[in-house]
Amino acid sequence: MKFATTAIHVGQEPDELTGAVTVPLYQTSTYAQEEIGKHKGWEYARTQNPTRSRWEACVAAMEGGIAGYAFGSGLAAIDTIMRTLSSGDHVIMAEDMYGGTFRLANTILQKSGITFSYVDMRNMDHVRAAVTPATKMIYTETPTNPMMTITDLRAAASLAHEAGALLVVDNTFASPYLQRPLELGADIVVHSATKYLGGHSDLVHGVVITRHQHVADQLAYLQNAVGAVPGPMECWLCLRSAKTLHVRMDRHSANAQAIAEWLEQHAAVQHVYYPGLKSHPQHALAASQMDGFGGMISIELGSLERAVAVTKKLQLFCLAESLGGVESLVCHPVSMTHGSVPKAQREKLGITDGLIRLSVGIEDVADLMADLDQALA
Ligand SMILES: *Cc1c(COP(=O)(O)O)cnc(C)c1O
Repeated sequence: MKFATTAIHVGQEPDELTGAVTVPLYQTSTYAQEEIGKHKGWEYARTQNPTRSRWEACVAAMEGGIAGYAFGSGLAAIDTIMRTLSSGDHVIMAEDMYGGTFRLANTILQKSGITFSYVDMRNMDHVRAAVTPATKMIYTETPTNPMMTITDLRAAASLAHEAGALLVVDNTFASPYLQRPLELGADIVVHSATKYLGGHSDLVHGVVITRHQHVADQLAYLQNAVGAVPGPMECWLCLRSAKTLHVRMDRHSANAQAIAEWLEQHAAVQHVYYPGLKSHPQHALAASQMDGFGGMISIELGSLERAVAVTKKLQLFCLAESLGGVESLVCHPVSMTHGSVPKAQREKLGITDGLIRLSVGIEDVADLMADLDQALA
């Protein structure tokens, strides 16, 4: 089955009881048992919920994994993956990464004796040099937030496996429609489904998908034992959103490509970061592992004053954290999403005071360009 068909049909068979074409929302905390020890396979809703199971089957199929697990947020999903590790284990992480993931590693997970090295994943030599006998995981994002750098997923997977470690990929920016890391050798994929998978800026949610049974068993155990589960409503909304993911991502990509090419010629813009541009230093690598380049663009305006002025004047691009919804958003990473990344590290990565990040929505592209044009003037 091709992607669009999978997204619309897997886990979404009509309801057996009534024939309802959409998956019912099982808003329940528990299930009646016939007699002691005899039940229909559903006991308690932290452990299992039918709406959640259907969504987990759908997202696992979209990513090409054997199992998926849903969580209350992207960070809850990432935290649960990290709980497969033990004190003394070492993780190599991308230095250019979602600020909240860095904060989780650096201020919380570190206290339980897990150690982290942060490296520039654009160059696999840096990753290789960071490997120690204790390395159990290589964790990356691609494209990264907000600098749009690309990790070579095939190379990272083979390096991880040589080291006896697992490759974990945060696939939030691409979505499974544009990039399927498990097919390229990754072992675990994680999403903030708050973003493109949800796609309508109306929920907070996370998912983890794997292609290994032993990892699936650990995740299933942790999902129940730690309990960072979502409510069924979010799972139901994600099932709804899965059906339009391919259509939305095609439009996000087309709009962003047109806007990035146009901004690159704009006198008021110093630099455009978008993997779909020929001028992006890793454009060929991105093209080799992605089926499209997504809706995220970062632009350098030169100063905080310019960033403040432009974001104030934008009307269709709403100033807000988050990304991946049908409506366009703009954010200022230094003061918003990346506030928890130390200043020296931010500067090293290029996350300057004048950098703004666009989440290009699926509105009419001419309207979006006109809005940017008047704001940049
Ligand atoms: C938003 C985001 C997260 C965190 O997800 P939440 O759903 O906000 O907890 C993780 N990774 C990336 C790339 C993100 O954009």
